[in-house]
Amino acid sequence: MASETETAIKPGCQFASDNTAGACPEALQAFVEANAGSQASYGNDRYTTVVADRLRELFAADCDVYFVFNGTAANSLAVSTCCQPYHSVICSDVAHLETDECGGPEFFSGGAKLLLAGSTHGKLNVASVEELVTRRTDIHYPKPHVLSITQSTEMGTVYSLKELAQLGAAAKRLGLRVHMDGARFANAVASLDAAPGDIIRAAQVDVLCFGGAKIGLPVGEAVLFFDRRLAADFAYRCKQAGQLASKMRFLTAPWLGLLSDSAWLKHARHGNAMAARLAAGLSATPGVDLLHPPDANAVFASLPAAVHQRLNQRGWRYYTFIGLGSARFMCSWATTTAEVDALLHDIRSSATRQASY
Ligand SMILES: *Cc1c(COP(=O)(O)O)cnc(C)c1O
Repeated sequence: MASETETAIKPGCQFASDNTAGACPEALQAFVEANAGSQASYGNDRYTTVVADRLRELFAADCDVYFVFNGTAANSLAVSTCCQPYHSVICSDVAHLETDECGGPEFFSGGAKLLLAGSTHGKLNVASVEELVTRRTDIHYPKPHVLSITQSTEMGTVYSLKELAQLGAAAKRLGLRVHMDGARFANAVASLDAAPGDIIRAAQVDVLCFGGAKIGLPVGEAVLFFDRRLAADFAYRCKQAGQLASKMRFLTAPWLGLLSDSAWLKHARHGNAMAARLAAGLSATPGVDLLHPPDANAVFASLPAAVHQRLNQRGWRYYTFIGLGSARFMCSWATTTAEVDALLHDIRSSATRQASY
């Protein structure tokens, strides 16, 4: 018989996503401070200017910086600046661009087609990219023009600097622009222990979408153009797409909190450490297999059906969209060791029951 504590529903969405967490204290404090007095609108405020400068410092690059409400807009608009409607964008078969943006990149580019390259643990490889570019050179095939790399990947893995250098070099050799989907860029930086600019230079990134929401902002992502020519009309794209915030300071001031004292990196390291703790516990659990190397803040595992059922009953929240029996547990800046250990406890106790049948 299940005891009362066993059936109690746990609050919150725990491991469903890193965007189920609230805003981190540093971002929230900066948000509240930015509320004082009046400020110029549409990005002409002092917060926006300062944050753009801070981001240029962080990346040690003279890039153009813009702020939008979410990652789908950041990716769709960034990719569109690199493309004509008859171009194509190469991304992995599991890329957010392909699976989770409702055709946004195609829509905003006015017809550019996504070409899907095979991936291993969410990572692209040079051979599959090259194959998509060289298989056709006729005018009936949408001309490959952009390579989109997700760092860290949708499968919670992180490209090494060497892997990025190979992809970046191949892209330039093949005449492709490089877009980086960095919805979880912070987690990749923490995982590699590299300077943010080193990742950009290794992959020869032209435009980066730097995720803010998943690392602790209330809302918003930054778009950084390392090839500034691409940014020429970007402000118009943002405005037309409904992505120009009138009270821009509320999008940008929280970045100040996140960037001060490297709070973003502290939070990214914490999320990664929670995932590592969970992965270590799971790999020592009979009947449970890790599906991808847990390089960043996500853990993918296969669990027996009975374990899923029991976790469900006990109120645990996580995604199971990646196939029968598999689970994605996502950790954030707000995940606690107590939550990880309680989840592990519940998985272990149900896995053991299962194993003893
Ligand atoms: C979350 C995420 C995004 C952004 O998604 P929005 O919901 O539009 O903010 C983009 N790319 C990846 C890989 C993501 O995980």
